[in-house]
Amino acid sequence: MQSKLKKVIQPPEFLGILGGGQLGRFFTIAAQKMGYSVVVFDPDKQSPAGKIAEKHICKPYNDLKALDELKASCRAVTTEFENVPAKTLRYLEKDIIVRPSSKAIAIAQNRIKEKNFLKKIKTTEGLMPVGTYVVIDSIESINNIDEKLRIFPGILKIAEFGYDGKGQIHVNNKTELEAAFKTFNNVPCTLEKKLNLESEFSVVLARSVDGEFIVYPTIHNSHDSGILELSSIPYMGLNPQILNIVDSDADMAKKFEKLKKYKDNIYINLTKSIANELSYIGVMAVEWFVEGGRKYINEIAPRPHNSGHFSIDACVYNQFDQQVLALTGNKLKQPEVEFPRSVMLNILGDLWFRDGAQKEPKFEMIAGLGIKLHLYGKAEPRIGRKMGHITILGLRDETQEDVMNRALSILGKLKSL
Ligand code: ADP
Ligand code: MG
Repeated sequence: MQSKLKKVIQPPEFLGILGGGQLGRFFTIAAQKMGYSVVVFDPDKQSPAGKIAEKHICKPYNDLKALDELKASCRAVTTEFENVPAKTLRYLEKDIIVRPSSKAIAIAQNRIKEKNFLKKIKTTEGLMPVGTYVVIDSIESINNIDEKLRIFPGILKIAEFGYDGKGQIHVNNKTELEAAFKTFNNVPCTLEKKLNLESEFSVVLARSVDGEFIVYPTIHNSHDSGILELSSIPYMGLNPQILNIVDSDADMAKKFEKLKKYKDNIYINLTKSIANELSYIGVMAVEWFVEGGRKYINEIAPRPHNSGHFSIDACVYNQFDQQVLALTGNKLKQPEVEFPRSVMLNILGDLWFRDGAQKEPKFEMIAGLGIKLHLYGKAEPRIGRKMGHITILGLRDETQEDVMNRALSILGKLKSL
């Protein structure tokens, strides 16, 4: 296995991906562009990635025979989401390369393990800033909550399988907490203090087999009902006064340098230390909260991240290219940000259900320079389901504010298509 791990996997070999959603689809596209073939493992016949891959194994994640078929089909496998059972990854890991490792995914897929892991990490910047939380796994654990923590109002989150704000209930006191815990059938949860968020940002980076990093610009994120709505670069939250001085690419470059020197460097370094701690190979995103100027770590995504989708259109090498490079044991590539001001808007299934009846949105209404529409090929729109996204690329003479205004006007239009 050791010698196998060192070798670079060359095209046209097969690469495997667990999960066939939009992240798997972008991975497949990136891999195929580099000459690889892809086998997608996803129980959904209609999965967006399964439709375009060379091979689709359409079986449940615990089907050992199907996993044997996957092992026989490729030398290395990665994952597009953290909810693949860690057991499945460990089974694959016995015979083929799994990057990131089952250990990394097992931590990121369970909020309790994740928080316990994070709070122990010591870095050159100090301890990881984890917000106030307690583990709720029994009625007793509710009764035992220390009043001094002042944890209410809080958010009860199921430890596993939550995504896009699902599996979360806001609670104001122990009575509501007990009811919420029951709603979740008493499965293990975390209860987090609800922060008064002034902004959210994410750091997306990749770490190679040799432990080398590439880092994307820090991304500003805003959510609606727990689902990402808009992401933009550059992230101004740490240094908002620079917002108005940008009017040329030269200024922009200077600003990035300035930003890099102080504030967000800390969070990039903290994110790197998480990846180092996990001997991580692949793309990792870390979501951060800002409250009253203080930063708290929210969660680790052990994969490319929705907020990193700007990189598909704004960079020479996007986050999925890095996922392929890391998986195959290649050196990573500098992202080369060609459009340092850009905004991404998510398109949810809600758009299909205006006025009660289901109808196709009129995307042709969204037109203009530097605007790219991506649809994921999902057969069935559903409320809250991610169906696609739009990238708005900052044109040469546009300021950050101009691009944001264009994005906001598109967001308004989207809601009336
Ligand atoms: P998911 O796994 O669904 O992404 P998150 O824990 O990231 O779950 O929560 C989704 C969103 O809900 C966050 O991005 C943030 O906007 C909001 N949120 C989550 N936890 C908190 C918190 N402790 N305080 C305030 N807002 C929160
Ligand atoms: Mg999240």
